Amino acid sequence: MNLSKHIDSANNAFKDWRKVPFEDRQKLLINLADVLEKNKEKFAKTITTEMHKPISQAIAEIEKSAGMIKYYAAAENILKPEKIKTEFSVSEVHYEAMGIILGVMPWNFPFWQVLRFAIPAILAGNVVILKHASICFGSGDEIELAFKEAGFPEYVFKNLRIGHNEIKEILENPLVRGVSLTGSEKAGGSVAALAGKNIKKSVLELGGSDAFIVLEDSDFEKAAKDGPWAKLQNTGQICNAAKRFIVHKDVEKDFVPRFIEEYNSYQPADPMKKETKLGKMARPDLADELENQYKKALKNGAEVVLALERISENEFRPGIILVKEGNPILQEELFGPLAILMIGKNDEEILKLANDIPFGLGNSVWTRDKKRAQFFIENLESGTVSINKATSSDTRLPFGGAKSSGYGVELSLHALKEFTQVKTVVGN
Ligand code: NAP
Repeated sequence: MNLSKHIDSANNAFKDWRKVPFEDRQKLLINLADVLEKNKEKFAKTITTEMHKPISQAIAEIEKSAGMIKYYAAAENILKPEKIKTEFSVSEVHYEAMGIILGVMPWNFPFWQVLRFAIPAILAGNVVILKHASICFGSGDEIELAFKEAGFPEYVFKNLRIGHNEIKEILENPLVRGVSLTGSEKAGGSVAALAGKNIKKSVLELGGSDAFIVLEDSDFEKAAKDGPWAKLQNTGQICNAAKRFIVHKDVEKDFVPRFIEEYNSYQPADPMKKETKLGKMARPDLADELENQYKKALKNGAEVVLALERISENEFRPGIILVKEGNPILQEELFGPLAILMIGKNDEEILKLANDIPFGLGNSVWTRDKKRAQFFIENLESGTVSINKATSSDTRLPFGGAKSSGYGVELSLHALKEFTQVKTVVGN
């Protein structure tokens, strides 16, 4: 593929797009949300065909994306010049679009992840080129067509069907000013190194192994009902899914049987059927990896609470393992239908278990005691702490990771500034 030709076209689009008023860009976003809503069944079918999530969850993904776009279509323009009081007659901060921003995106939410990054970047006046996961090129094409149908100029959003080896050439091109990657630590590290070498801004949204902490004074019945969904939606392939259930020893007997009962209600079935709650994993090699991690955990002392059972090349009956501190599996992300259960004897020990991992996306704490909640809010090392609810991203609130889960912010008004150049204007 002639990448420089595409980059030149995107740069030409940028020259005009940066001059379009914020409010006019917002009008096109309203059209885009309409296109998504009108085509939600069709787009959902593409998603499920490409990466096998249950169709009802694919439809929910399109609806959530349309809702997010409407949020930005109605957002306050926080990019207007800010006046600062100084001794000069003019002192202002301007937020200018940077240019072409590359998105390197994963397969787990083929529409949501792409749009979550692209919409605020484009509303800020940038143009976006997409390198989607190699199993999601169809989703990438449909997103590009949706932009076109909504009336966006060509190349404001461009999908390129390329492999990850071509990212280097894109980031070496001086017209490309930044990159946002959502994916694994390995991919993030490699793309951030390329961006750094070429002095370009990067945003990384990487993996997680978030804790779902259940204290003995909590509404543990609700926690047991919501916990399996927090882990198993999208067939357990969510960055900020609840991956480690850390339960206070005094509620173990009440919580665990209820949790297992609900967890068991998720059984693999045809992802195209609307009633299906658990789909297939995205690729057979990812299922192999999960199975190997299961064996590694057991070899290092984990106990089976519910056996992980592989029933086809990319399908499992979901499993749960009881893991103790020191098991090397705790340093890894389990990306699929296998949950970790841990038992802690007090808040300090539970906090230590929760933080003793390389990642930090969105921990969740269940307690009725505000003081105990505050202790966890102040001490958990993660981008989000959810209280008495499972963690999930919310368009109105910032989303991002701590530690090896990445850096930079998506969603909320904060995301509008991620790919802008702060320009100081000062003088008389
Ligand atoms: P992945 O293998 O890292 O792929 C993500 C993207 O990076 C794809 O477009 C992929 O392209 C590309 N890529 C892969 N290896 C690369 C490399 N060495 N250099 C440059 N680019 C590379 O991740 P995935 O399996 O699609 O997604 C699962 C991971 O994403 C999990 O770790 C999950 O936690 C994380 N995730 C994080 C968030 C968040 O917001 N923090 C959200 C969703 C997912 P190819 O397909 O062509 O290899």
